Order: sequence, then C-alpha cells, then structure tokens
Amino acid sequence: MNFTPIKNIIIVGGGTSGWMAAASLSKFLSHKNIEIHLVESNEIGTIGVGEATLPGILDFNNSLGIDQIDFIKKTKATFKLGIEFNDWKNIGTRFFHPFSNYGQPLGGVDFYQIWQVLFKQGKASALENYCLPSILARQNKFSQPNPNTTSPLANYHYAFHFDASLYANYLRDYSEARGVIRHEDKVTGVNLADNGFIAGIKLEHAGDLAGDLFIDCTGFKGLLIEGALKTGYEDWSEWLPVNSAVAVQSESTTEPTSYTKTTALEAGWKWKIPLQHRIGNGYVYCDKFISDADATQKLLLSLDGKPLTTPKVIKFITGRRKKFWNKNCVALGLSSGFLEPLESTSISLIQTGISKLLMFFPDNSFNENDMDEANRLAQVEMERIRDFILLHYKLSQRNDSPFWNYVQEIPIPEALQQKINMFKHRGHLIKNEGESFGDASWISIYNGFNIIPETFDLRVEQFNISALGQQLEKIETTIKDAASYALHHQAFIDKYCKADL
Ligand code: FAD
Repeated sequence: MNFTPIKNIIIVGGGTSGWMAAASLSKFLSHKNIEIHLVESNEIGTIGVGEATLPGILDFNNSLGIDQIDFIKKTKATFKLGIEFNDWKNIGTRFFHPFSNYGQPLGGVDFYQIWQVLFKQGKASALENYCLPSILARQNKFSQPNPNTTSPLANYHYAFHFDASLYANYLRDYSEARGVIRHEDKVTGVNLADNGFIAGIKLEHAGDLAGDLFIDCTGFKGLLIEGALKTGYEDWSEWLPVNSAVAVQSESTTEPTSYTKTTALEAGWKWKIPLQHRIGNGYVYCDKFISDADATQKLLLSLDGKPLTTPKVIKFITGRRKKFWNKNCVALGLSSGFLEPLESTSISLIQTGISKLLMFFPDNSFNENDMDEANRLAQVEMERIRDFILLHYKLSQRNDSPFWNYVQEIPIPEALQQKINMFKHRGHLIKNEGESFGDASWISIYNGFNIIPETFDLRVEQFNISALGQQLEKIETTIKDAASYALHHQAFIDKYCKADL
C-alpha cells in the first residue's frame, strides 16, 4: 500500500465542472501543498449551455468566499425563484415549482395536509398563494429573504441564471490567483500504469504530464473515466427518452423573469433562461419523435427576440457513469452522466461531486471503502433525481402527440411508484436517503399536475376548521403584503447588481 499523500492533481477540461473543481480544490486543499493543473482546449471548446442553477450555488460561491454582487455583475446573472411549467399537464395549464415551502406547519401537522382539507371545503385558495416566492415570481418581482425575520414565510431560497462561459472565466481568475496552473493544450492520449491506474496524460504541445489524482471534466466523452478506464455507462433512456437538444441565444425584448420558464412541446419541452444581456433558449426532445431540423425550426419560430448565435444541436444519452470514481480518476460534470436539464440539476451535481471528493479525499493508496461509499452516495443521488424528473412526464395528461402518449406509458421504477401511490392516497411524501429535492418540490409537482389525494392526515381533525381558515387567510394576506413591497426583478437588478452590458 502506498500511503503517501497526493502531490499532484490533474483536472482535464475547463468548462463549468473543470473550473468549479479547480476553484474548490485550490481553496480547500491550500494547506496541503498539492500542485493543481488544469488542461483545457479552446479549439475543442465547452458545451456552451448550463445556465440555470439550484439554490446550492449560493452555498458553493459562499464557501469560496465569493462576493455575491461581484459574481452577479461579472456573470451577468439574474435571480431564479423557481421554475414555471407551462403546458405540462395539458396545453394551457401553468404551475410553479418554487425553492421554498408552502405556508408553515401548524400544531406539528404539515401545511399541505391542512391546506388540502380546507381547499376541498372551499376555505382555502390556490396552494401557490401560500408561498412568497411563487407570488413574487407571478408578479415578476424579486426580494432577498430577510435573515433577521423569524417568519418561516420569509425563509426561502433562490438561485441564479448566469452566463456559463463568464462563470468559468470568473472561477478561472479565482483559481489561478490561488496557484492553479492552466495549460492551453489538447490531451491526445493517456498513460496507464501496470495496476491500471492513470499515470499521466499526453499533451499535443507540452508532452507528458504525470499526476496522482485525475479529475475528468471533459464533457460527454469522458476521455479519462471512459476512454482510458472503460468504466461503463448505465443508459437510462428507457425512462428518460429525450436524447437531443437544440440551443440558441437570443436578444432580450422584455425584462428578465425571476424564474426559468419551461414549456412542454410536441416532442419534449423548451427552456427560456433570462440573463441580464440576453436569453438562453433550447428545445429538449427525443429525435424518434421530431427531426433535428424540425426542432430547430420550431425553436427559432418561438423566440421572442432575434437569434444571436447559430442554433447548436447537442446529442446525449440520459444516464450515469457506472462509477463516478474509478481508480485514481473522479468524473465531474457531463463525464459523470446526464439527466436532461429539466430541473437544472447538473451544476448542482458538480458541486455535490466535489463535496464527495473532499469528504473522502484520498492518499495514494486510494482506499476502496472510501471510493465505494462515495460511489454509492453518487448513485443514490442520481437515481433520486432521475425519479423526480420522471415524475413530470408520468403525471402529464397530454394526449396530443405520440411523444406524450409514449412517455406516460413508460414503466417507472418501483421506488417512484410507491411515492406516487402514497401521495395519491393520503398526500404524504415518502422521503428516502439522498433526496436532492425537498417536500415543497414534490408537492409543487403533484399539485401542479392536479393530483388530489383520496384522504388526508387525520390529525387535521383535531383543529378547529374555521380557526384554521382564518390562519390561512392571514398567511395569504401576509404574503400578498410582502410581495407588494418587493421590487420588480429588473428594478432590483438595476438598484443592486447591474452588470456592464
Ligand atoms: P464541457 O462544458 O463540455 O467542458 C468540457 C471541457 O473539456 C472543455 O473545456 C473542453 O475543451 C475540454 N476537453 C475535452 N476534450 C479535451 C481534450 N482532448 N483535451 C483538452 N481538453 C479537452 N446544467 C445545469 O445545471 N443547468 C442547466 O440549465 C443546464 N442546461 C443544459 C442544457 C443542455 C442541453 C445540456 C446538454 C446540458 C445542460 N446542463 C445544465 C448541464 C451543463 O451544461 C453541464 O453540467 C456543465 O456545462 C458542465 O459541463 P462540463 O464542464 O462537464 O463539460
């Protein structure tokens, strides 16, 4: 066994995952005397999408000591209170998935249980009215949660939309200032040691570069984790059949929304991600149901403003690398798998991948227990997210195209079926280890698809219903008042964090 410390880390790839890894490792391993190299090729470039995030991005940036205002200005970011889903249940329907809870538990009983009883009796209004970020989003406003308040109603989360290439540049500056050595070069081969570990990489211009630990951030191709180590890929397209996307940037014609917008289309769905200086648009689809050319045409016709880039078609297979950590190689970002971007989970998975690497940071013996546990956690996390995304398709009632008929008939994993059954029966949630999405997320999707439980938590009966009705009314009014004081999203940006455009 070689218990010597890691002295040399080689990150291959300079997209979002590569630079997030470089920034985090250079910060958290600064006391370790480890040399960190990052190799990227401008000629190959990055995927150029991936601009909507989850609230954990704030924790990531905060952990690096990044100033939020500076980050927003330099990445031309906007705020994201959640995701608006249009035409998902049926054409003409809309619901919102907020990063926040609904109402507040009363007497130890979940708010949703109380709400569903009162709603059925006509004593409560739409669920959305009990969630401040949902109301802010509906009015296209933004306000920061107040850290000094004790009200759970004001204790919500938000995320960002940002320009992915500007974020990579931002983290590059951060990393290089902390000693990360960048190589603008192309990897042309991988040297394996006798034990099958990676000994080094061959660079087109600079020759061989040896290392102890390798981070594969090379995108879908997984140059090290798959190309060299043949780790294998679990194909999940039987559950998540979308396999293509066409992406294009366009001019903004209106104020940016404080949320991501998704709209279900005949063979998938489209996204609209507003930044301060432009909009990111894309159509995610299954190419068995629409051609690339038709999807591109549909997307271009639906743009609000003039296209700023040539539409780019991207092909993928939903699924996961069988091991995110194999021998002395850890895969982050697209090289570790991809679940389609519906719930903006990829950047968040990069973050949690980096956390696992730091939590189980190896020496040169690469302890199997550490790696097995990190791989187990990564697998559970991906499976839970897969099921959450799958829920959106399974619950749809659209029957206007072969794609929607097909996705509703897909047999789903047992764990998800149990969750759906539980909710349909009593409105309770089954919570498993490794869930990335909390109660409010699951409830917003069930409710958005109009799943009405057959029965409820009988503890609600202990309360006086008319007193509960008054409490709900008070919550609704408090939220309405709070929203009326908030600034419009654009006005908030202009006041606090406007970028140089
Ligand atoms: P890439 O950006 O592809 O970077 C790969 C890097 O490896 C590049 O620097 C490249 O030059 C380098 N490289 C490759 N080969 C070599 C070589 N031989 N030598 C040297 N360097 C090499 N995620 C979200 O969280 N939110 C979203 O809204 C979202 N939307 C998405 C929409 C679509 C259609 C797709 C496909 C993905 C989306 N994602 C989203 C995922 C997100 O794009 C990625 O997680 C993120 O961009 C990270 O990509 P990456 O760094 O792994 O790969």
